[in-house]
Amino acid sequence: MIKTVHVKKGYQLRIEGIVDATLKSLKTPDHVAVCPARVPFIKPRLRVKKGDDVRIGTLLFEDKQEPRFQFLSPGGGRIDDIRFGPRRVIDQVVIALARDENQVDFPALTDRTLATISRSDLVNMIMAGGIWPLIRALPFRDIANPDTMPPAIFVGLDDLEPFQAAPEVYLTDNENLFDFGVRVLKRLSDTVYVTAAKANRNVKNCLNGQINLVHTGKYPAGDPGVLLYHLKTTSKENNSWFIAGQDVLMLARLLTTGHYPTERVVAIGGSAADEKQHVQARLGASIADLLGYPVDPAVMRCVSGGVFRGQVVSPDGFLGLYETALTLLPEGNEKEFMALFNPGWKKQTYSRVYLSHLNPADLTVNCNRHGDERACIACMHCADVCPVDILPQLTYKAVLAGEVEEALAHGLLDCVECGLCTYVCPSKIELTDALKTAKAAYRKEREGG
Ligand code: SF4
Ligand code: SF4
Repeated sequence: MIKTVHVKKGYQLRIEGIVDATLKSLKTPDHVAVCPARVPFIKPRLRVKKGDDVRIGTLLFEDKQEPRFQFLSPGGGRIDDIRFGPRRVIDQVVIALARDENQVDFPALTDRTLATISRSDLVNMIMAGGIWPLIRALPFRDIANPDTMPPAIFVGLDDLEPFQAAPEVYLTDNENLFDFGVRVLKRLSDTVYVTAAKANRNVKNCLNGQINLVHTGKYPAGDPGVLLYHLKTTSKENNSWFIAGQDVLMLARLLTTGHYPTERVVAIGGSAADEKQHVQARLGASIADLLGYPVDPAVMRCVSGGVFRGQVVSPDGFLGLYETALTLLPEGNEKEFMALFNPGWKKQTYSRVYLSHLNPADLTVNCNRHGDERACIACMHCADVCPVDILPQLTYKAVLAGEVEEALAHGLLDCVECGLCTYVCPSKIELTDALKTAKAAYRKEREGG
């Protein structure tokens, strides 16, 4: 039976630059990279040095705290550079690809061996094959603990953040692979929810009966944390796991072929993008290879991962492990002529101060904050959009005052870090960052340091 979750709060940004449903293949790049600094909560320990030869699937680095979390090379060739950020954080491990890439062989499964392999052997195969970090756990969104049995695993197909890779694009011709991946997940947990937006008929046609949880509502209705918040009946379910739909294909590719998967579909969107399209790209592709044209960072911003949750990347940077969306937005530094008298027919507004709320067209978004942080005016916009019924302004005040218990009582751990409260706040208060940092600090304290 298909369950339905109705998410009443949230917000759908009407934004220009929607991604076309066609899929374009890119030529093999010269370089790919892995970005350890973009994997939250790990302490990377390098296993290669500059100049080493690597194959697809060679171990590049592992987590010092949990060495079974392994991060493998998405390309075969030579380690071209290891770039460090502030405080010697390992920013990028760059691989120059060889003309003929070699690959590491891992054991593979068939339908029959999947049914008979023990759960612990299956977990070990996924970890040795470098795919385990794609399975993450609520509420902190860290890599799932392989020694636990989760109450449920959520597979997310539609997360409704603008410009994400469309599931009907990456699932086409991969339906059987997806089915295999879901069967792998069913060996890890008794409950696996394959989730999609109720309105997305394309996905339902593609998957023919595999979806067992649909959601209605605005962004971030499809987020696993939001779905869990609306479904859970006990606090034990708070530690459920989740994996993105496209990563189920990665998992299945590793286990059916015995080779580390190297490709992903990436959505390129945003009003400043020349071509708004899906591309079949190498894992760890550079921004330059994905776009195929130069970007001036003074006038255009590259955001990797999504407009609300993503991060700004340099045009000479690379996509991170969890990122399958690249958005290009104008910086918006230009001074507006007669700004005070502009009725804002094309300006984004949540609070309806501009006439644009009467304009049915998708609107431009730029990166200009239009002002600095001010004191909270108790407008309650943040609470009105919060999909998990937190009062963000009160939780934020508790966090600032160091009142951890009070912040927890307000529902801090339910926060899905969606970014909406920050977006709608007329006082420009960075609510999401503060709550995300507080969650991470609480996790650190709970883990004992
Ligand atoms: S508190 Fe803010 S970031 Fe957290 S779920 Fe609510 S709206 Fe999203
Ligand atoms: S949206 Fe901003 S100003 Fe309004 S109540 Fe929330 S924190 Fe305060």
